[in-house]
Amino acid sequence: MIPPEIPNLVAGQLEPPASGAWIDKLRPVDGTPLCRVARSRAEDVDRSVAFARGAQPAWAERTAVARGEVVRELALLLRERRVELAEIVVEETGKPFELALGEADAAVEMGFFVAGEGRRSYGRTLTSSMDHRTVLTLRQPLGVAGLIMSFNTPLPNVAWKAFPAVFCGNASVVKPSEHTPASALRFAELALEAGVPPGVLNVVQGLGEEAGAALVEHDDVDLVSFTGSAGTGRWINGTAGRRLAKVCLELGGKNALVVCDDADLDGAVRWAIAAAFSNAGQRCASASRIVVLDDVYDTFRDRLVEQAGALTPEPVISEASLVRMVAALERAVGEGATVLCGGTRPDRLGWYLTPTVVEPAASDSEIAHAELFGPVTLLFRARDLGEAVSIVNDSPYGLTAAIHTASVHRALRFAEQAQAGVVVVNGGTHGSEPHMGFGGVKHSGTGWREAGVEALDVYSDLKVVNLIVDPALV
Ligand code: NAD
Repeated sequence: MIPPEIPNLVAGQLEPPASGAWIDKLRPVDGTPLCRVARSRAEDVDRSVAFARGAQPAWAERTAVARGEVVRELALLLRERRVELAEIVVEETGKPFELALGEADAAVEMGFFVAGEGRRSYGRTLTSSMDHRTVLTLRQPLGVAGLIMSFNTPLPNVAWKAFPAVFCGNASVVKPSEHTPASALRFAELALEAGVPPGVLNVVQGLGEEAGAALVEHDDVDLVSFTGSAGTGRWINGTAGRRLAKVCLELGGKNALVVCDDADLDGAVRWAIAAAFSNAGQRCASASRIVVLDDVYDTFRDRLVEQAGALTPEPVISEASLVRMVAALERAVGEGATVLCGGTRPDRLGWYLTPTVVEPAASDSEIAHAELFGPVTLLFRARDLGEAVSIVNDSPYGLTAAIHTASVHRALRFAEQAQAGVVVVNGGTHGSEPHMGFGGVKHSGTGWREAGVEALDVYSDLKVVNLIVDPALV
């Protein structure tokens, strides 16, 4: 189902990279070769950006309603092909089919939500201090958007950017993760089939430091919208910022789930397990820290460890990712951390780490602050809610946070005090919907929100139009 070579898609045509070089993509489940991926460089990026620039004005000329209709056609096609798409994602990532299918459905829903904006993307009318003046706002496309994303939920990652970018009248160049090239290419092929004109949605495959960097550095890219790690985001912000491009960054997390002494402990354990370990913990919003109040700490820990120990490990995306996690765990143990369960590579092919629960040595240790992006969660003990909130906020990141409590007072206090872009009460730290703006504070982003109507602010500019009507001419 995945072709042996995954090329670029430029101006509606499949193209090999100009250099003729390819990257070997391996299967996470067993490390065997899956396909070869175009190793694009600046030359390929230049070509794509030029075609995008050429295609954009005619696309932007269409009404928002017409663009929304094309977006809806794409969402319908994605829905028709949801099983095929999920199967591609399973091959690329090694995640369970049901999870991949849920992600395909989430991508479809994003399409339907954005399509509806065609008849709903309202502007404002404003009052003026001057006579006979009416002021209104219009949404304008930005031009060419460079869309760069992570591998973890490949279809939603593309959908969250490509749908609003296209809808707002931009042309885009997508640089998917080198780990998930095939699902992104399929998305763009279906976009063509749905009526997105050639050149409006291009895909350039390749490595971040080559194809990705060339897109960020390109003078003719008006917006760089990036989902990935904080380290890469910092470089992108500096580089694209220097040439005064618009930059939207959705970055990492070290999200905390707090369990109070009045919580439904079974529910809290269930949500903690799902938030920490589903998708092998490769979620920006995963619960990589769990903070438990003293009175219920031992009971919660025992139940969590028992259930985590019974999980079937899922593969992480690459050998490099696995090696990085194992090394971080070794350093933590060297600093005095206790591994309560997991932390081992099962004796099998592929890139697996058994679901891992760790009691860190100290709240300022490396593992307490660094995002591992894998099936590892840390347990912290807190005296009371005040101390729990201090631990939650003692992080460079601020993406999501959750609290389990029966008290509405505690829930609201937490919602106010947790430094995060999303707060959940009595649920997981993960989970989002297309109509809800998603993003974080501190090193988790730069203030933009993806999804929701907020996404329109990323992919368009608001123009203020002054209409001065001379009454003498009426
Ligand atoms: P990453 O930063 O290594 O790579 C992300 C993308 O950027 C890839 O396509 C990669 O090829 C590209 N890239 C790498 N270096 C680049 C460079 N110098 N210039 C341009 N592009 C470059 O991240 P990853 O390992 O793919 O993803 C994991 C990270 O993504 C985690 O930190 C996770 O929390 C974050 N993430 C955030 C969100 C969110 O919405 N906030 C969602 C998913 C993942």
